Amino acid sequence: MSALKAELVRLIADEGPLPVSHYMALALSHPQHGYYMTRDPFGAAGDFTTAPEISQMFGEMLGLWAGHLWQAMGAPPRFALVEIGPGRGTLMADMLRAARIVPGFREAACVHLVETSPVLREIQKETLAGKAEPVWHDRAETALEGPAIVIANELLDALPLDQFVMTPEGWRQRLVGLDAEGELVFGLSGHAEAQAPLPPGPMGAVLEQPHAALALVSRVAGHVGRFGGGALFLDYGSAETGFGDTLQAMRRHAFVDPLSGPGDADLTVHVDFARMAQAGLRAGAAAHGPVRQGAFLLALGLAERAQALSGKASPEQAQEIAAAFDRLTAGAATGMGDLFKVLALTHPDLPPLPGFDLHRLPEQG
Ligand code: SAH
Repeated sequence: MSALKAELVRLIADEGPLPVSHYMALALSHPQHGYYMTRDPFGAAGDFTTAPEISQMFGEMLGLWAGHLWQAMGAPPRFALVEIGPGRGTLMADMLRAARIVPGFREAACVHLVETSPVLREIQKETLAGKAEPVWHDRAETALEGPAIVIANELLDALPLDQFVMTPEGWRQRLVGLDAEGELVFGLSGHAEAQAPLPPGPMGAVLEQPHAALALVSRVAGHVGRFGGGALFLDYGSAETGFGDTLQAMRRHAFVDPLSGPGDADLTVHVDFARMAQAGLRAGAAAHGPVRQGAFLLALGLAERAQALSGKASPEQAQEIAAAFDRLTAGAATGMGDLFKVLALTHPDLPPLPGFDLHRLPEQG
């Protein structure tokens, strides 16, 4: 049994079952044994791969988008370029390189990284050595100052949420408890929730409440709505609010039981982009999207960039570029193009931004 699992079993035996949000928070961010606190999870040798680790083209497109946004903001001489959950620092490095074609952008940008993992902070430091002098933060609050451009790829899906299940008595909270053998097991709270804040739902439905993600999105949207700039959130998720249990665990590129190895597997949820957009609007920002990642990247010029890179590449490299292009843009079966969505929240006075002059989801599902 992992050290974290032993600690969770003790905690539940002493204090009773845990809400799913508490379980997720400990599994991912426990100071000693949390999944992100102890390892570099990315790539072939790790547990999963993200878009910036698939290809430099992803970060390059986001860098161009950020450069465009900065110009639309009136090219302020100083602004905060904030990334929340920067992973290996690859996305920031690729963005900064691509944005060089926008004169003045690099000089105006103060790079801020919001990262909770000491292991990943070290890797970010290495990746960005000689390219930026980032300031690290534990929380987004301290990174947000003045006009800001905020980027978060695959962050919201790692923030803890709570789950409720509709029973004949009403919504009951899903909890992580212990079975007769002392193994971690899902159960339900003994009493129904007061109905008021939760919408109605069919019997057996699972309702997810992503409080942490909504709070972060509101905070960021409130900031750019007041001080100028915009934020881009990219993640696995849906454009429409629905019911369902989306908690999943991944280890060595395969799905595993979310309770089987707390601290040893990545835990994620699907992001409800409709609610994120509403939270952004309520906080005073304009919402663009959500749109599909594939369409977004193509609108920014991904195909042209892939072609340019291939022109200078060996046949093997050209094959890799074509495979990366497919992975980033293709539909559900093989790629991230449809499953991943992109939402921008900006100061309300800004003009429409590249990539979002597309049909708004969810018309096409
Ligand atoms: N954006 C990167 C990494 C995605 S993985 C990429 O696309 O490759 C999630 C990242 O968010 C990791 O860097 C993880 O350590 C960080 N993270 C998780 N919870 C966080 C939190 N509450 N605040 C800030 N960063 C967090």
